[in-house]
Amino acid sequence: MSGAVPEEHVRAAALQWLSEVTFDGTVPVTRDQLSNDFSVGGFRFPLVDAGRGIRRPAGWSTALSVLTAVPKGSRGPVYDDAEGPDGYHRYKLRRDARGAAENEGLRTAMTRQTPLIWFKGLAPSVYQAIFPVYLMAEEDELSQFVMALTEEQRRLWPTSSRFEENLRRYLLTTTRRRLHQPVFAYRVMQAYGTRCAVCSLGHRELLDAAHIVPDAEEGGAAVVTNGLALCKIHHAAYDRHILGIRPDYTVEIHQRLLEEIDGPMLRHGLQDHHGRTLMTIPTARAQRPDPDRLHRRYDLFRQA
Ligand SMILES: [Zn+2]
Repeated sequence: MSGAVPEEHVRAAALQWLSEVTFDGTVPVTRDQLSNDFSVGGFRFPLVDAGRGIRRPAGWSTALSVLTAVPKGSRGPVYDDAEGPDGYHRYKLRRDARGAAENEGLRTAMTRQTPLIWFKGLAPSVYQAIFPVYLMAEEDELSQFVMALTEEQRRLWPTSSRFEENLRRYLLTTTRRRLHQPVFAYRVMQAYGTRCAVCSLGHRELLDAAHIVPDAEEGGAAVVTNGLALCKIHHAAYDRHILGIRPDYTVEIHQRLLEEIDGPMLRHGLQDHHGRTLMTIPTARAQRPDPDRLHRRYDLFRQA
């Protein structure tokens, strides 16, 4: 094993690797990747433990990661599965005898404020990596830890009068949105087969899950019917009202761009799509873009 490499070095390397592989937590990882793809000091170093929720590598004083699998028989992740009324997530301790050492590894992480990685199940063997997360407190009677998922949450703990209620609520909402964005993205990519709705480009690293109605507005929920898989160019064009999508899925390009003469990107990437229908839409009818939302958005395009 990698006994020669100090644990904090491995942890730092693991966090670095994970941010590259997941594009800073926005793209999911599979159990297979987590078990096989990371190595340090020339040795493969699994980031999750087979069949166990808490990964405390042999010889380590502190845990490295915790994992929440998708509930058996459920079709997808449950939002706010373990979120307390205060907006903080909870992580359950292992209650069996074998879990004692792992729980201890979490306690040490809490005392030292060591950054941990949380793998949250999106589908069987598919996870959203949330990192770094910190354990803020142990709730003994409920056998669980309070987790801070962002620096803001970490600073806001403990629940005290240090922060004004509105500020607290704002920061928790921001955290929740950030947390749900990758789940939304995962579902949108699944629905669109990881292809841009407009041009059908199929490179995940060049694709975004775009909202039709912005998430800060009413009707802007992070549901697939309010989403579109769009490549970076078409996402930016949609957000700037250069590109519009009619409720019947026809693409329109703004007049001022249609008249412009430029290179092949403008011509093929934008102008040629004018009047064409979306190239990719979800096969499942229930996942297709909601015409009412498209209509609201199209109105803004027309006013632009
Ligand atoms: Zn595109």
